[in-house]
Amino acid sequence: MQDMKDIAEMHWKHDLLSSIEVGIVVVDREYHVQVWNLFMENHSNIAPGMIRDKSLFASFPEIDESWLRAKAEPVFSMKSPVFVIWEQRPYLFRFGANRPITSPSQFMYQNITIFPLASLSGRVDQICIVVYDVTDQAVSRQAVDELNEELQRLSRVDGLTGIFNRHYWEEQFSREFKRNVRNPGHSSVIMLDIDHFKKINDTYGHPAGDEVIRQLAKLISDVSRETDICGRYGGEEFTILLPDTASENVMVLAQRIRQTVEKLTIEYEQHIISFTVSLGIAQFDAAFEQHMHWLEHADKALYKAKTGGRNQVVIA
Ligand code: GH3
Ligand code: MG
Ligand code: MG
Repeated sequence: MQDMKDIAEMHWKHDLLSSIEVGIVVVDREYHVQVWNLFMENHSNIAPGMIRDKSLFASFPEIDESWLRAKAEPVFSMKSPVFVIWEQRPYLFRFGANRPITSPSQFMYQNITIFPLASLSGRVDQICIVVYDVTDQAVSRQAVDELNEELQRLSRVDGLTGIFNRHYWEEQFSREFKRNVRNPGHSSVIMLDIDHFKKINDTYGHPAGDEVIRQLAKLISDVSRETDICGRYGGEEFTILLPDTASENVMVLAQRIRQTVEKLTIEYEQHIISFTVSLGIAQFDAAFEQHMHWLEHADKALYKAKTGGRNQVVIA
């Protein structure tokens, strides 16, 4: 009867060990390898006979010894299994990805389970490390993450110009307002509007107007600094937030934009289009109760620039 049971167990063990679905490694307290199945052999090119009784750490220098010992300690002492998922640590054994041509991953992502093997006396002298190949799952999860990041980026930018849209710009503006309230600085905002833009649309057509908006957006991002936050606020209205910039420097930037636009000529189909812009500047003031008050000041300055003859900059 006992013989039958042993044979049945042998078959069971043999099936499991020759499984190519999961890796099975049994080590003793010294982390000397006792069992090494076909999966491990296939992926490491190390036959069981070559690694038996050898140190796991000596054979696989990529394994962080103190980390694995810390993980496995409760398995020996508490007899409770431990799981490590690929998000915590991409792999234990650095194996190549199964399909190096079709898989975008250079290596095999692994989930790991470590469970205790108790002897008849109840002591745990060996632990079993099970290695699952989760490369497909990890790769598709990363693809989803990348897609989400791209969607998030797209939700922030304006489709025509590629610079920040009104919603995102206002969010940043509101945040900058709060920062200035806490820690009064010299942040400023510029509001810009194309002069007589209706005439451009009427004369050259709406697509030509779009091209003007696109090139103006590019000009604005090119001349402003990395830390400035540029947005398309409306049809042909742009806003630039300049953190920690004194109004003299804001004036320099605004004039540079105005002059560069003045000299710019845009070729569209057989037309050569030139245009001008008006700009209003408002510096942060502790008297503002909310961020929109700040922007209203810039808008008022812009209105003065318009009524003052256009193609000019006015500071609130
Ligand atoms: P002002 O100097 O007073 O600003 O005169 P304006 O003609 O520019 O007047 P306003 O700013 O009111 O005109 C905005 C025009 O911009 C009206 C609208 O048809 C046009 N517009 C708004 N969005 C777009 C767009 O995405 N593409 C194009 N081509 N035109 C747009
Ligand atoms: Mg306008
Ligand atoms: Mg306009």
